[in-house]
Amino acid sequence: MRIIRTKAELKAHVRELKRSGKTIGLVPTMGFLHEGHLSLIDIARGKADAVIVSVFVNPTQFAPNEDFDSYPRDFDRDAALCAEHGANAVFAPEPEEMYDPSASTWVEEVSLSKPLCGASRPTFFRGVTTVVSKLFHLAQPDIAVFGQKDAQQLLVVSRMVRDLDFPIEIIAAPLVRGQDGLALSSRNRYLTPDEHLRATNLHRSLVEARAKIEAARAVKSEFIEAAKEVITAAGGKVDYVSALDRTTLREPTAGTTQILLAAAAWFGTTRLIDNELIDF
Ligand code: AMP
Repeated sequence: MRIIRTKAELKAHVRELKRSGKTIGLVPTMGFLHEGHLSLIDIARGKADAVIVSVFVNPTQFAPNEDFDSYPRDFDRDAALCAEHGANAVFAPEPEEMYDPSASTWVEEVSLSKPLCGASRPTFFRGVTTVVSKLFHLAQPDIAVFGQKDAQQLLVVSRMVRDLDFPIEIIAAPLVRGQDGLALSSRNRYLTPDEHLRATNLHRSLVEARAKIEAARAVKSEFIEAAKEVITAAGGKVDYVSALDRTTLREPTAGTTQILLAAAAWFGTTRLIDNELIDF
């Protein structure tokens, strides 16, 4: 497995793969890999001849008050895991390699990126769409795999690919949880054992709301309020709990066929997100 640090090396590697007729699967990550990330690599391997994993803590998707500096990093472990899971290359540039100091261009999706996480993190998604565009241009993948864990990100990236005609198929990978139900996340590393235990209520709040929505075949505000109470009672601070049409991220309508029930909450200083998809 190759470890690639520069854009020039990545382009050369991609040229080589294309010359030998290989299809390319890309798995963009911020590293500190866990079973969720590894499941994406496994899926990519099943869909493409060669898999490139990017490991890049992308500064442009962090606001100044967020955790860019403290974001967990362990490159050697990440590289070993990627090799174990059959990746052909890991692309791990430094921020200075990825961004020119005078870079002044953004790729921005302006509809799906507004609600949910976009409300409390207004510059987050343009950082994501910008870096993902750059990775797409550099790696020229045939497919790219994104996790349902970040449901809104998956939608925003899919919309960008459609709107800007990237010749790439976006594959959605199922959300991977720990045995206690907590969605796996690199940020779980920040949680104390007590916070970790309490944070399992984030998923519980959604499972309970999901059952109510399915039974009533309707979204009622009392279901959402009850979910918020579950989180608050567990010591969490709610950012949002919301049930929206999965394709528009607007309030469900008569035409809604799937609902994204999504939540974000702080446990201690750690902001966690989770979601459930409900056929409607
Ligand atoms: P991140 O390193 O957090 O930026 O995540 C990189 C990719 O892994 C994104 O497509 C995430 O949606 C995906 N991912 C992260 N956690 C999980 C999980 N628990 N289950 C499935 N995919 C995940």
